[in-house]
Amino acid sequence: STPIGSLPPSAFKVNASNVRYTDDHIIADYVYSNAIVTSNECGSINVTPTNTKYTFKTELKVPKVGLMMVGWGGNNGSTLTASIVANRNNITWRTKDGIKTPNYFGSVVQASTLKIGVDEKGKDVNIPFSNILPMVHPNDLVLGGWDISSFDLAKSMQRACVLDYDLQRQVAPELEKLKPLPSIYYPDFIAANQSDRADNLIPGNDKNAHVEHIRKDIRQFKAANQLDKIIVVWTANTERYADIIPGVNDTADNLLNAVKESHPEIAPSTIFAIACILENVPFINGSPQNTFVPGCVELAERNRVYIGGDDFKSGQTKVKSVLVDFLVNSGIKPIGITSYNHLGNNDGKNLSAPQQFRSKEISKSNVVDDMVNSNKILYKPGEHPDHVVVIKYVPAVGDSKRALDEYVSEIFMGGRNTISLYNTCEDSLLASPLILDLAILAELMTRIEYRTEEMSEFAPFHSVLSILSFMLKAPLVPPGTPVVNAFSKQRMAMENLFRACIGLPPNNDMLLEHKAP
Ligand code: NAD
Repeated sequence: STPIGSLPPSAFKVNASNVRYTDDHIIADYVYSNAIVTSNECGSINVTPTNTKYTFKTELKVPKVGLMMVGWGGNNGSTLTASIVANRNNITWRTKDGIKTPNYFGSVVQASTLKIGVDEKGKDVNIPFSNILPMVHPNDLVLGGWDISSFDLAKSMQRACVLDYDLQRQVAPELEKLKPLPSIYYPDFIAANQSDRADNLIPGNDKNAHVEHIRKDIRQFKAANQLDKIIVVWTANTERYADIIPGVNDTADNLLNAVKESHPEIAPSTIFAIACILENVPFINGSPQNTFVPGCVELAERNRVYIGGDDFKSGQTKVKSVLVDFLVNSGIKPIGITSYNHLGNNDGKNLSAPQQFRSKEISKSNVVDDMVNSNKILYKPGEHPDHVVVIKYVPAVGDSKRALDEYVSEIFMGGRNTISLYNTCEDSLLASPLILDLAILAELMTRIEYRTEEMSEFAPFHSVLSILSFMLKAPLVPPGTPVVNAFSKQRMAMENLFRACIGLPPNNDMLLEHKAP
């Protein structure tokens, strides 16, 4: 394949009659091809191809964007901040293995490529993912956020014990100037063992005042930094699940009323989500809890603001969404999946409490469902592999999470295949680039609108950004729509949507030009 390097977005044009470039937009007419399947009582199946016309309009100007993280002083928040500072200033550092240079490995947007077509000789031409449409560069993000711990970002980075000392030493002077805003602490929602770091709090118990406080923080940050847009990402501790209570958090109006009454079942993360929605700011949840209670989803839909979640998909689950995809699509039947984790960072400490572990267990559990349900040859209706997830806190391993997985599968003629994996995950170094992808792609989505033949005006997509699923363990999808966990499908959905926006058909790997020249 031929990487063609980092093209500026303006240098890349699609020559086709269905694509128009204006000074401000790319407008692409697109035919979405699908197939509708019906079956009658006798079980016979009819498949009818369908074609729906869409027009996509993408704003070309990349705005000045602020990324505000909730839990900014945590391992992910401080690692990402230090890494962006290192990238921006091209800081190199010495380790026992030699001199290291900064990069954005692990970010799909920044470090992966996609095939845009073939050259005259029929060889694949791949471009950086970030060149498919104009996107914000991570170095240009203005960083800010909140934490219940008062440590500045330099101290937070030291506490995290993630980055090499020689790098920490060089970025510390800049990080010292960055201080998280005070945040909301309802002790009931995170583990009791977190209380000793909670010294940077918005006072009081009035939840409505808390929403207003966060809204004001967002407005002030935007004004102070002259930003066009802000994206907020929750990378704070995993909370316990909130109970869904009729009359409290089941509808948007009930949720807003419950906030006014400071109802105890409204979690800090939901307060942040509400504040963002009311400020027209996209909010992404990187932790597993059910921040997006039904009332919160309805509020986002009503205000047409983007939300995305839940739970960064960085290590064990990412492997699972690849491996089960591979097994099931090879006609092999996984019957037992057992996953052990141990980790020694503050996330692990918080997850050592049963209710917070439960949130993580739920988010890690449903990841194979779509792949299992897709194959009725291997699995009878209702049949499911045994699937167990264990997480233990072992301080000695620090941020270097261990994930041990065993996949037992039934193969040909009653045979058994057992795959055993041992993955040393470097937790925060895998998760931090996902924060970038989520923020950059969420921002891009705010600049894309669509129109079908029935619509007179362009409109934004559904508020729940399922297009972000690739980066998330338990993808939030619009109510009543399918959840896709399989790695390759998630990646193709992103690629093909962005290709559609520049008027290109979905990628395919038929290579017909070589097979039937
Ligand atoms: P961390 O414990 O180091 O950081 C969390 C930070 O959130 C802490 O600094 C804490 O003080 C702060 N915090 C807690 N409650 C807060 C609140 N209400 N408002 C503001 N700040 C608050 O954890 P981490 O390793 O950075 O991970 C962050 C989250 O991301 C965790 O929930 C974790 O489960 C989730 N996650 C991490 C990964 C990964 O690979 N690192 C993967 C998936 C999900």
